[in-house]
Amino acid sequence: MSRHPVLRTPLPGPKAKEAIARSEATTSPSYTRDYPLVADHAHGCWITDPDGNEFLDMTSGIAVCATGHTHEKVVAAIQKQAAELIHMSGTDFYYEVQAQIADRIANSRAVRGEKARVYFGNSGAEANEAAMKLARYHTGRQRFIAFLGAFHGRTYGALSLTGSKVRQRERFGPLLPGITHAVYPDPLRQGGAEASTRFAIGHIQELFRTTVPPNEVAAIFVEPIQGEGGYIVPPDAFLRELRALCDEHGILLVYDEVQSGMGRTGKLWAWHHAGDDTAPDILTCAKGIASGMPLSAMVASDKIMKWLPGSHASTFGGNPVCCAAAVATYDLLQDGLIDNAAKIGAFLQKTLRESVGDHPAVADVRGRGLMIAVELVKDKKSLARASELRNQIVLDAFEEGLLLLGCGPNCVRFCPALVLNEDEAVVATQIFTDVLRAAAA
Ligand code: PLP
Repeated sequence: MSRHPVLRTPLPGPKAKEAIARSEATTSPSYTRDYPLVADHAHGCWITDPDGNEFLDMTSGIAVCATGHTHEKVVAAIQKQAAELIHMSGTDFYYEVQAQIADRIANSRAVRGEKARVYFGNSGAEANEAAMKLARYHTGRQRFIAFLGAFHGRTYGALSLTGSKVRQRERFGPLLPGITHAVYPDPLRQGGAEASTRFAIGHIQELFRTTVPPNEVAAIFVEPIQGEGGYIVPPDAFLRELRALCDEHGILLVYDEVQSGMGRTGKLWAWHHAGDDTAPDILTCAKGIASGMPLSAMVASDKIMKWLPGSHASTFGGNPVCCAAAVATYDLLQDGLIDNAAKIGAFLQKTLRESVGDHPAVADVRGRGLMIAVELVKDKKSLARASELRNQIVLDAFEEGLLLLGCGPNCVRFCPALVLNEDEAVVATQIFTDVLRAAAA
């Protein structure tokens, strides 16, 4: 028998209501809570709130808890490490567990070149800040190119690369100068794979002819699958041509795999789907790396990561407890969870497509592995974005015990833990389908 969500109270229940009131009284109003879930405890793909309501989680804490909530091996690694050494600043001193995870990531074929090195931070934004600084340091150039729709984080450098929502920039300027946003390929809206590749690469070439001297560009930052922008999967040819363009002009290619990395797409790095000739110079990752402990990594070949002691560092980056969680996570990913993401991801995508693909409000079901989006439109001809319908569906799904998130202006994303099984994928599809049919009726 499949496990289903259990709802014991109206949502939010009385205890959840109290927790929400306490939180809203003292926390920053800038947080974006789309629905009133209070997480009390969780395991695998299931979350229980303080009133005993049980939810099926298709968010994994925004694509973070790769091994599922509270995986036994991750919990044990955290507990053991916490009892032995919690902190000693890996910037100033050495400890074994940091080298263990650095070794795994450096040998994961993350970037081009024989030998890689790893810099540790605490968040995706920090990894991207580090990549920006290294790119300038290495090339002696100042400019960057990023993409419309991209999300790279909210610190000043990362925010300057981000091209996602105006709210994220409003009243925060001036941002970093010298950053130009190019069009990201969107096969659905730009006439298919070939045309969208031509359009996006053509736009960069046009920038190089007109406003952005290519010999001043330090790096191009790109998500190999655009995450917050709508889980848009670019054609492989786009990454190939971008790589070639970078080589032509001596520009570093940086892949932000903060969301797409750590096995989520069914391969360790999403760019592996596109082939060796798309390998980046620098790769950033975070989210799934330590199953929920705050850790990020910036990886580059040792020929590029040649900055001098003191050039860049962080007190907490690469904390021992986070590194221990990351080692346990990495080994679980390699021991079957990446394969499971490929297998169950394909199953979930097929199930969703069969169930809602023909619905007039569904323009696309897409993704790789367990990075899947359903794009909602007012009609399939105009492809006008159905943002309100999307928001309604996310809210209604919560009311039915299914946790979803939006991405892009009009997509629902499925980014569950990589431990998802077929039964859970079927239950999620059933609830989503019912909610979609009711909301779009
Ligand atoms: N890069 C990508 C692709 C992301 O999806 C995110 C977060 O959603 C970030 C960077 C920023 O990560 P963080 O919120 O850990 O700073």
